[in-house]
Formats: sequence, C-alpha cells, structure tokens
Amino acid sequence: MNVNGVESQEQACEAFVAWLDRRVVAAGRGDGLARLEVAPSGTFWLGRIACEDEVRKGAADERLERLDPCAIGIRLRPAVAPSWSMTVTVRARAWVKDPKDGSHPEQRWWRSDLVEEVVSVLVDAGGGSFGGKQLTDAFAAVGAPGLAAEVRVEVEDWHREAELVVQLVNTSPEKAPGLTDSHLYETQLEVAGLTTTPFQLEALPDSFRYDRDVPAYGINVGVDVPEPGVFRTTDTVDVQTCRPAYWNSTSTPPDLSFLALACDPLPELTALVDALAAYDEAHWSQGALDDRQTAERWTASMRAEADKSAQDVFDELDRLRTGVELLRTRPTILRAFQLMNKAIARSAEGRGYATWRPFQVGFLLSAIRFLAEPDDEARFVDTVWFATGGGKTETYLGLLLTAAFHDRLTGKLMGVTAWSRFPLRLLSLQQTQRFADALAGAEMVRREENVGGTPFSLGFLVGQAGTPNKIVPKAEKDGDITPDSPGLPDKYQVLLQCPFCRADNLTMHFNRERWKLEHRCTSTTCPTKGQALPMYVVDQEIFRFLPTVVVGTLDKAASIGMQQAMRGLVGPPQKLCPVPWHGFTYAERSAAPNGCLVPSCQGGKVLKDLPMDPKRYGPSLRLQDELHLLRDSLGAVDSHYESLLDHLQHELCGTRVKIVASSATLTGYDRQIDVLYQREGRVFPQPGPRAGESFWTTSTTQPLRRFVAVAPRGVTLEHVSDRTLDALQRCVRELVNNPASVCAEAGVDPRHVPTLISLYGTDVVYGTTLYDVEAAGRSLGSNNTVDGINVEQLTGQTDFDEVRAILDRLEKPEDDFAERIHVVAASSMLSHGVDVDRLNTMVMLGLPLTTAEFIQTTARVGRRHPGLVYVLHKIGRERDAQTFRHFAQYVRQGDRFVDAIPITRRSRRVLDLTIAGIVAARTLMLREPASRQRLSTPAKLRDHVRASGLTSAMEAAAVAAVLNLEGPEDSVHREQITEWIRAWFAELVDPTSKAKFIGDLGPRSPMMSLRDVEASAPIHD
Ligand SMILES: [Zn+2]
Ligand SMILES: [Zn+2]
Repeated sequence: MNVNGVESQEQACEAFVAWLDRRVVAAGRGDGLARLEVAPSGTFWLGRIACEDEVRKGAADERLERLDPCAIGIRLRPAVAPSWSMTVTVRARAWVKDPKDGSHPEQRWWRSDLVEEVVSVLVDAGGGSFGGKQLTDAFAAVGAPGLAAEVRVEVEDWHREAELVVQLVNTSPEKAPGLTDSHLYETQLEVAGLTTTPFQLEALPDSFRYDRDVPAYGINVGVDVPEPGVFRTTDTVDVQTCRPAYWNSTSTPPDLSFLALACDPLPELTALVDALAAYDEAHWSQGALDDRQTAERWTASMRAEADKSAQDVFDELDRLRTGVELLRTRPTILRAFQLMNKAIARSAEGRGYATWRPFQVGFLLSAIRFLAEPDDEARFVDTVWFATGGGKTETYLGLLLTAAFHDRLTGKLMGVTAWSRFPLRLLSLQQTQRFADALAGAEMVRREENVGGTPFSLGFLVGQAGTPNKIVPKAEKDGDITPDSPGLPDKYQVLLQCPFCRADNLTMHFNRERWKLEHRCTSTTCPTKGQALPMYVVDQEIFRFLPTVVVGTLDKAASIGMQQAMRGLVGPPQKLCPVPWHGFTYAERSAAPNGCLVPSCQGGKVLKDLPMDPKRYGPSLRLQDELHLLRDSLGAVDSHYESLLDHLQHELCGTRVKIVASSATLTGYDRQIDVLYQREGRVFPQPGPRAGESFWTTSTTQPLRRFVAVAPRGVTLEHVSDRTLDALQRCVRELVNNPASVCAEAGVDPRHVPTLISLYGTDVVYGTTLYDVEAAGRSLGSNNTVDGINVEQLTGQTDFDEVRAILDRLEKPEDDFAERIHVVAASSMLSHGVDVDRLNTMVMLGLPLTTAEFIQTTARVGRRHPGLVYVLHKIGRERDAQTFRHFAQYVRQGDRFVDAIPITRRSRRVLDLTIAGIVAARTLMLREPASRQRLSTPAKLRDHVRASGLTSAMEAAAVAAVLNLEGPEDSVHREQITEWIRAWFAELVDPTSKAKFIGDLGPRSPMMSLRDVEASAPIHD
C-alpha cells in the first residue's frame, strides 16, 4: 500500500506475484501439508536431500549427485586464520508412512514437526563433523527415528585463501527398521558468527563497470544474507529486476514527441545533444575517470578499458552533433526527418504513446549521415544494441521512413528503399503489422504533403512455408498454387488489422484481372475505400511492384542465385509492362515470353522503358534483425550471400547499400560485422559508465521481472514444469472462485481482481527444443490437479492462421475464464516479436543455448506489468549448474555472459555450398541482361560464353573477388573456387551434359535456402 492507503495496480501486481511465488515454492517443498497419499520423494522438488549412502551407491558421479543431492551447503571465505567458530542452525522435517492399518488408510504419509537445532562449531584447518547425535535425537523426537544428519565442515586451501564449506549432510542409513523414507525435507542451513570476506566472481574478467563481489556461494541451493554476518540457504534463487527509465540527466528532458519533431525539431534535438555532452563530461572526462580510479582502486587494465570506452563515447557524441548539424544545413534531410515524424505520429495514434525514447532519437541522429554521404557511411554497419530496453523496431522504422521520404524527395520515385531481414523461418505477424502501420502512416503523409512517386507499400518475402512464390492459372506440378487452391485466399492473410484505420475486418481476395492476392479493408470509413492495401505477400508480386520496404526472412537471400526477378532487390528491373497492374518485367522465359510475370500476359513484345534512372533502383538500406543469431554455418553462408548482394548492387547501380542491424550482444561484435559484411562495426548506444546505467537508461524501483532459479531435485524436469504450471493455475482459479480470501492472503485490494485474473491467468511454458515444447503441452493435459487447462502451442510449426488466431485470443481474452488460453507452450518463435501485455508468467525448461536467447525470451513476459519467470535448470548439465551458482549475476549482468559469436567466412565446406549461387546470380543478374538475350539454358549460355571470350580462370577470379578471398592466406580457397568453376565450365561445353537449366551445371545447384545447411553445426576456417 502506498502512503494514502490506496493500492495502485502496480503494487497489487507486485504483491500478487510474491504470493504466487510463495505458493509455487510451497508446492515444491511440501509446506503446509499434513498428509499425503503418494510418496513425498516422487512429489517434491525443493528442500529435500537424499541419504548419502544411496547417492554414493548410485554412482560416484557429480552429475547424478546434483540431480538428487545428499547435502546442501554454503561456501565461505573466512577473514581470519584458524581456528574458526560459528553457530549453525539446521532446519528440516521428515515424512513418515503409517502402517496399512493406520488412522488414514487413504493418506498414509504424514509430515513431522519442524526440527530446528542450533549446532556450535569450532573447527581448525582439518575440518570436522558436528551435531550428529543432536540431530539424530531431534528426528527421533518428532517421530522419525532412524533419520540422521550432521553438519560437516570442510576446509579447502587449494585456492590462495582458505575456503570453508559448511554442509548439512543426510547421514541416514538407506534402510533401517521403522524408517519409511530416508530423505530429509524442507531443509535449511544458517551460518552466523563467522567473519568473512567476499569472493570475486571468477566467471567474469575485471571491469570498471561491474561489482564482482559475491558474499558466499550456495551448494545445491541459493544463499541469502538476511543481515550482515548471517548466511542462510534458500531453495530457489530469486532475482528481482527493475523497470528502466529513459532519461538520466539533471537537465529538463526535451520534447521528443513525434509532433514536436515533425514541426520544429532543431531546438529539441540540440537540447538532447547538449544534455548528453554534459553527462559525458561528468562521467567520462579524464578528471572523472581519475576520481573513480582512486576511489574504486582500479587496476591499470581497468583504467585502460575505461579510457577506450571514453573515446568511443565521445566519438558517439560527435556523430550525434553531426546529425543535428546535417538537419540544420540540409533542407531535404530535415524535411525527410519531419515527414517521418509526422508519419510515425499518425501510425501511433490511439496506441498510448506519442513520443520517442531519447535513445531512439539518439540512434537516428547517429545514423542519419548516410543520407548525406552514402558512400562514406556505407563503410559502417550501425547496430542498435537493445539490451537497454524495448523499442528497437520503432527505431528501425524511424530510420526506414526517413530514408523512404528522402528517396522520394531526391528523385527516387519508386522501387525498394529497404530490405529488412529477420533470421527466423517465420517472421512474426506482429512485427510485420508494425511495419505496415508505419508505412500506412507514411503513405497518408505522402499524399497530404504532395510528395511524389508511387504509393508507399510493403512486401512480405518469406520462405515457401509462409506465403507463395507465385500463383499460376493451372497446377502442373506438386506444390503449384492456383487461385483455387485449398484455403486460398484467406490462408495468406498476413496483416492482423487494417494499417490505415485499425479495423480488424480485413478480407482476402484474389484479383484475377490484376493477378494479385489482395488484403482489403471492409470498413466504410477507411481511407482505402475498399481498394487493395499496398501490401504484397506473393514473391512475384514483390518483383512486379517493388514495394518501398520488403520485410522477410534471411533465408530468402538464396533466391538471388535462382530467381532472376530477384534483381529488383539489388538493382533495376528490365522494363515495364504496358498492361496496367502488370508491373515491372524481367528476363524472357518460356512462361514469361515478354518478361512479364503475369501468366499469359497480352502486353506483347513492346515494353515500356523504366520510368526512372536504372541506377536508383538499388535499395538504400539493408536491415538485419537479431544479428547475434547469424552464427555458425548460417552466419558463414550468409556472409557469402551478403558479399554477393553487395557485388550485384555495385555492378548494377554503382552504389553500396547502408547496413543497419540490431543485436542483443556486443561481445565479439566487431569481428562478426567484419566477417558478415566486410565493414566496420559501430554500436549505439555505447554502454554507460556503470552496469545498468548510462545517459540513455537508468533503473527505477518499479518491479520488472522476478526471476526464480529452480534446481529440481530427485524428480524429472517435466514433473517440475507440470507442477509449477499446475500451482500457478490453481492459484489463479482460487482468485476467480474465492477472491476475498486470496486477496486477504496476498495483501491485494479486491478491486484489482479482474485485472489480476487477466494479467496472470495465462502462463507461458518455454522450451528450447520442439520436443520439449510438445512434451510440455501434452503432459499438462494429463498430469495436473486442476481440470480444464487450455493449452495452445506457438512454434515454428504452427500454421500462419493458427498463430493469428492464438494472438487474437491472447490480446482479446474470452469473458469466461474457463474458455481462455491458460498455457501457451512456445519455442523460440515466441521470442521474436510476440508482444502481448497479458503474458506475465513463464516457466522455462532448461537454460537456452545462448544468453542472448535467455534475455530475449524472458523479455516476452512482464512487458508492462510485473513478471514472474521460473527458470528450471537442467541441473545435470554442467552449464546449467554453473549458471545456477551465479544466477543473480547472470540475470543482472547477462550481457557480459553473452558468449563470443562463432563465425567465419573462410569455411571450405560452406564455400562448396555457395559458389553455385554466386556463379548463377552473376549469370542471371549481370551477364544475361548485358547480353540482351536469354541465357537460361546451357546451350544459349555456351554460345554466349564462346562469343564473349569468358574463361574459367576469369570467372574464378571474379568469384574470389566477390568473396574477398584474394589474400595470400586464401590460396586454398581460390584453388577450390578454380576447381569448382573448371568443372562448371567443362559441363557447360560438354554437348552430352544432361543439364536442362543453368542451375544444373557444375558440382552442385545453388542453395534453395540459406537454411540448407544445418544451422547449428559448428563451422571452422
Ligand atoms: Zn481500413
Ligand atoms: Zn504484362
């Protein structure tokens, strides 16, 4: 309750989350129960310890011991020399089984009273055991004769300083007369009276930014320090994070609302940059660093790191200053920036926000120079580092619309401004919707402000599992899609609502006359007046109309080696079809005799010339979302295709595209950018002077997420996941059925009940493998104490329309709680752009492979309201066990744990896969248009090659140049390319070759998808 005695919704949520957690932990430990019908050792997963004999016998295996440990303990570093004295308090209970003819034949197990013993310990360097008889007697006294335990102190001195390991060990015999269960339950150990010094977190290097002190380590448990000098074990490790604020300066925040920046941006932007300058001076000047170095006793290497960071910070400040200066002196850039703000204001109407976060504007200012000096700025890849907080998509969109308007204002009246790629197979529909909304806003502004050119539009270019490559009049082979294919046209509805009027009454049509698959809005007040939305979801329509922005999945880049009409994404198409709505044309093919992609086009041979300078068709921007996922073989393959795209655009337009990315990690970032794009990396924002704090972001006291690390003992992870979800569902059903008593227990004002039911009534269970997700979904149905849990799955396998329906139900839940979705079983698909404010509880099945995935996935819950995340560790795995040990640091300093990204462009295995695409793309995109004839068959290409004098050595040299494999260290790669192309040439000139198409030539065909390699397989130079 706050000072006025009125509880805010935020406070109610916080109290409710704490209550939920108490209940889940109680369910794991067995608190509050009196009797049980089933064996407690098969039920509880927290607080229990097995008997030493049994664990020893099982196997002398550290892994097994972690799965059902026989001890809990605390590792401490004493501040003084031996001997050491301390008091150790032990708490535990027993479960005992009555004989068959006992008082409760249905529930034969009963829980003993609490054993609570204070054991005095005085120990020297040899260690020792304490309190054995005292504890054995205490168990006998509560009715559990035969149970035995002791406090064991071991002294380890193989580190520089001595460490004490104080443990409670279950020394009960495995079997003894009258002993029905040799486990101890609800155990706790508390150490007091010993002076200690903290450990230094060894998993992380020295850094001036982070505090590395750890007061004590738990063994199979967490450790709390309830008061100085007292160390107490905890069954779970709880870490509360707090919501960030986005202004960390003493000066008045400038007005960064979209409308203010649309009208008169310069005063506000100047104020922003001045505030940043003042902050940088206060925290990063030599004087400021000198003071910290003295006060915090930095080493020379920490100071050197700080000096380097200071340099980067002042460079960033310079870039922002340059950005403001450009807006002041270049009217076209200023106008593009203003129009963008107007468009974003339009698209954000009714969404509850009308202003930028300062870091978003900071990024725009830092990157905007590429409009003025495109060649120079193309040398850098600018990356939004979004560990600092949400809003990266909007940041992208700001840049993208600025570029789109700038293109129009400088004579690029059509064609693609930006190609934005996401690394997943299935691009999130919500993400796509945000792009569509922004472009619709821009289109309305374009019309109002009389900015020339074709309407702003959006293309959706994803792998074939998503939307069709093309629609044909008649199915001739498997997989052909016709206007009458099952599910068409509704199946390919991509937008969730109308981007112009927000109505969710979109309908799909196949327009036969225009040969277009159309989204239409049926709202009578919609500015589109029932016309098709400027949205293209079929690949060939994207090539025909070249929408302003193309969003899609990265794997589609492979099409550049197979599909000549992909040329529109790197350069000019060939011509324009004279038939209205047929659009741009490409090379002539048997199915497209005049180059028009509309089946049976009657436009004839006389096509119209391109209405714009061909060199301006190349896009201005290529965006890469979630850059950190481009690793291993996917990263290696993409690095070759990125080079190919650059090469084609350079040959066709003479320009180099600007690349902008977002990433969750900064570790190894420079190298990753160099490998992928052959450019220099630049990150925004630079990390601040202290962990979790910079000019752009600082922490508040409002709860964000409560992370609870669980190391399950003695039972399977699936059991724990089922039981945790079961407990969460039981709690929220109690709130539905018995609001008054739950509110009293949880300390919540009853007026918040409906909100709490909505915000905490749907749990997410997250698995890193599809197998885990499906198993979790299935077992919940059969393994719970609560009836009627509705489970839905969200994975890469979930069909489009199903995803849409699930998102819709999550956004707008049914009135009756019983009909709602109660559990969403999700895979990594969830972590990419599913933004539902109602998702606030999550159970994670094991740690994800990468820290980046952990950060991103958990960010899906608690977006607006306090979240609760159970991280069930697969404790038998070494990595999970390590992370459990320093879970608090893992959560708070997660970005430091992000591992360097394994990536290379010099993998010979990958080269073997990519050469074919490079050769084919060069033929389709460059050679064929230049030759002014069809080169789609080996015979025609052979003639052309002969006539033009091309040799295999020339082509090999060209391919090596595309991939920048021209150094002395690349000789084996060049050799490999030469061999490959020699084989390709041999087949080309061989009249007996069976190759029907040029893609059939050579040792292998071009890749169909960048995913053709196993994405997780490691790749080496
Ligand atoms: Zn509409
Ligand atoms: Zn046509």
